[in-house]
Amino acid sequence: MSEPRTVTLLTTDHGPVTIPEPSWCVGHEGAPVGLRDDILHRGRPVAFTFRGQEITDACIVQTPCATLEVAELNSRTPGVSVSAIARTLDARNVYALAAAFDTYADRLRDLADQLLVITTEGDL
Ligand SMILES: [Zn+2]
Repeated sequence: MSEPRTVTLLTTDHGPVTIPEPSWCVGHEGAPVGLRDDILHRGRPVAFTFRGQEITDACIVQTPCATLEVAELNSRTPGVSVSAIARTLDARNVYALAAAFDTYADRLRDLADQLLVITTEGDL
């Protein structure tokens, strides 16, 4: 059995802090030095782009040393951070957001259908 992976980070309030590093974390290279409470594990981002423009992205996050739990913003419990809504969601709410995207995609298709009717029938 292998040793659990750890990472040592320099903080402004507690000096070097060594914590377990979850397998999904992409690392802390380039992360600014800050408070221990603000240490953030981040997973690989999943971006939604269209024609090279990023619409939003999401990734798994966790603030493992947080002493103040703030729902959907800062938690020791891993969640999915979604940039478009600037919130971190639990699995149930990520599914709800995905369902909302599905509904929005349907509404976009309805607009495309409406546009085709307008442009083919000359109702301009
Ligand atoms: Zn990490």
